[in-house]
Amino acid sequence: MDMLIGGKHISSDDLEEVKNPYNGEVIDTVPIAHLQTAQLAIDEANKAKKSIQEMSAFKVSNKLFDVLEKLKSNRQALAELLSLEVGKPINESLVELDRSVETLKLAAEEAKRIYGESVPLDAGLNGKGFFAFTQRVPLGVVAAITPFNYPLNLTIHKIAPALACKNTVIIKPPSEAPLTVMKFAELVNEEFPDGVINTLTGYGSEVGDYLVTSPEVNKISFTGSVTTGLMISQKAGMKKVTLELGGNDPLIVLKDADIDKAVKGVINGAFLNAGQVCMGVKRIIVEDEIADDFSQKLVCETEKLVMGNPLDEKTTLGTLISENAAIQVEEAVSNAVTEGAEILTGGARDGAFYEATVIDNVTPDMDLVVRETFGPVAPIIHVNSLDEAIDVANATEYGLQAGVFTNDYSAAMRCAQEIDAGTVFVNKQSTFRTDNMPFGGFKSSGVGKEGIKYSVEEMTKTKLIGLNLR
Ligand code: NAD
Repeated sequence: MDMLIGGKHISSDDLEEVKNPYNGEVIDTVPIAHLQTAQLAIDEANKAKKSIQEMSAFKVSNKLFDVLEKLKSNRQALAELLSLEVGKPINESLVELDRSVETLKLAAEEAKRIYGESVPLDAGLNGKGFFAFTQRVPLGVVAAITPFNYPLNLTIHKIAPALACKNTVIIKPPSEAPLTVMKFAELVNEEFPDGVINTLTGYGSEVGDYLVTSPEVNKISFTGSVTTGLMISQKAGMKKVTLELGGNDPLIVLKDADIDKAVKGVINGAFLNAGQVCMGVKRIIVEDEIADDFSQKLVCETEKLVMGNPLDEKTTLGTLISENAAIQVEEAVSNAVTEGAEILTGGARDGAFYEATVIDNVTPDMDLVVRETFGPVAPIIHVNSLDEAIDVANATEYGLQAGVFTNDYSAAMRCAQEIDAGTVFVNKQSTFRTDNMPFGGFKSSGVGKEGIKYSVEEMTKTKLIGLNLR
């Protein structure tokens, strides 16, 4: 599939294969862009700025609603493509499509709500006689750089608010799974002027880096790993940067918790998308008194998951993004076992598949839970008190989201206040997200927030206009 730049389809002499992780078959090829092509995308996006900025908010909003209708009518086909390139079960891909529609709807609505405020300059020294107000104005060109695990919805979380506040966009999709995003960009291009949306495929370290360092790109909106995010923040210079990075989210189960509810939270939190979720449950911190009961129930529910062809509706656990990714998870689990942890169920790999694995007697210093393990693994850490649970939850460089299961409101409030993360849920696991909420982590999990209204704030700048009336 070709790139889309300035409304034209552009290829390259070098092509990269996009493979289905389930059976290794080539689904399609995409161009490996050279730096001249990256510059062409930047030129086209800059040229198109005027065309979108001249549109009324009413028109931008309607166009976004039109894109939404197109996305809805392509729901099944795009979900199948997503499953093919990511290896995620078709039912999860359909959910990603539905969330993408919802994200677009929120942006179409938000396009009509980009307000400024009046500012009383006469409250300051010598300010008497002024009338002043602010306006939120677009930044210009937004580069959207996104990861493989939720390629469509995470990219729409950048494109939709960027367009709502009249920026143009260059998308650098993930190399492992670029196709669904590229098809979506074609739908956007049918509604907006040429050059408003552009796609650029190729190596992140080359074209991604070129976008990050270009003075003609005004904003980097990045979702991906801490390593890449850190590199971007060091190279971006004066441009605005939003970084949505990795997570190592805890799920605390206190002794008074509804255990069945907590087990359900783990099944959804640790095994969704084969555990490749930034806000996935990556550490289960359980009070010792109830740990045996909890782990027995968790094993029982885990063994009900069905591993298989992602396109089969019965499949609830698909592949990881590649065999290499599965090998890394296998190694992390086997190192933890060498250090004293015990596999209760799972633990085997077959190509890019890794079984849903529950692993007990994990200690907070094991690499399995110190690093972000991106796979279907539920590591259980035993603690003896609420204080210890909070300490363990905070003993990480990450701080994306967290969940605590308890019916004791004072314990819940202590967790909410003392856990250093962007979101703390009570009686819900960290994988929960609605597309309007402020989403973004603390510590190494990132800088800035997404969630349509919050993304618009990050994709506009505030201009003050002052009228001297005397
Ligand atoms: P990654 O950092 O390897 O890649 C992300 C994107 O960055 C890709 O498009 C890649 O091509 C590009 N890239 C690579 N090098 C670059 C460079 N030097 N300059 C600019 N761009 C470059 O991440 P991944 O493996 O695709 O995704 C998994 C990671 O993403 C996990 O850590 C996960 O937790 C995180 N993630 C975070 C969120 C969030 O919202 N916080 C959501 C999903 C995934």
